[in-house]
Amino acid sequence: KMQGVGNGTEEKILVLVRLRPLNEKEIAQNDVADWECINSTTILYRNSLQERSGLPTAYSFDRVFRGDCETREVYDEEIKEIALSVVGGINSTIFAYGQTSSGKTYTMNGITEYTVADIYEYMQMHDERAFALKFSAMEIYNEVVRDLLSSDNNQLRLLDDPEKGMIIEKLTEETLRDWNHLKELLSICEAQRQIGETSLNEKSSRSHQILRLTIESSAREFIGKSNSTTLAASVNFVDLAGSERASQAQSVGQRLKEGCHINRSLLTLGTVIRKLSKGRHGHVNYRDSKLTRILQPALGGNARTAIICTLNPSRSHVEQSRNTLLFASCAK
Ligand code: ADP
Ligand code: MG
Repeated sequence: KMQGVGNGTEEKILVLVRLRPLNEKEIAQNDVADWECINSTTILYRNSLQERSGLPTAYSFDRVFRGDCETREVYDEEIKEIALSVVGGINSTIFAYGQTSSGKTYTMNGITEYTVADIYEYMQMHDERAFALKFSAMEIYNEVVRDLLSSDNNQLRLLDDPEKGMIIEKLTEETLRDWNHLKELLSICEAQRQIGETSLNEKSSRSHQILRLTIESSAREFIGKSNSTTLAASVNFVDLAGSERASQAQSVGQRLKEGCHINRSLLTLGTVIRKLSKGRHGHVNYRDSKLTRILQPALGGNARTAIICTLNPSRSHVEQSRNTLLFASCAK
């Protein structure tokens, strides 16, 4: 997974699949888990009816995680190294992709916390440098970007700065004081995030959420001197909107419009990811959606990227699970 692609300096995108266990409600409805990880890289669909349908039954990725795996294991074994590359000045992005209720938020919450804890540990161990850890959070809903740390409902504009590149105008950036401060900020984000009811009859997130940690550091011995340089990089945690199609949720009116926009961002992300996974020859259409535009500096090039595709194990969601694995296959 570390092998370079294209010109040799670009990193391949790490593609992981995480199955979740059946929940109590699904068990009560006699739903069954048809997906099984048969080893650390292959997930299998076991259902005699489907096997005769000619659809693929086995899918392979960099890594697959069984339903009984803890988030800690996902983080320690696959994500930690990518997320912590930020302390060395390398941008990274960790995505959670999957249908509503497949475990995206569950996965990203744990991973964000573990990363922050490890960054704090790193800062404590490197006394020779002065650090600032900054946090910002935004939501993309209907191709409109909102600040999750601000209560005014204003739409954030994306501007092209000749020196700094793309900047998100007026985005709040909080310098983290400590762990409790982060917890406070995360609960503000949670409260601000758009949620609504769909005919899937569950609270379904129809927005993309980006949590961004930026770490800045400089060597203490040079601070205030002319040869002082600041190292800065960001790690982005992206909890994507549910990947289910608007049609499946039988959405109407406003919901349908939202569905189109969600699909636009997810579609563009898919196209960008596919390009990057093939070594980034030619033009990459980052500008086609807000999501890819915001994430451009942390995708491709020298940046590190991981996609965790979360999967509902149940038979009744097989079609969506296949769509998720199809997306995952394209990112490989
Ligand atoms: P999503 O964000 O994709 O809509 P959630 O993360 O909210 O889905 O997960 C849906 C439900 O399933 C939540 O109640 C969550 O706690 C539970 N869940 C998700 N993944 C797991 C897992 N790997 N192990 C145990 N419970 C999980
Ligand atoms: Mg969620």
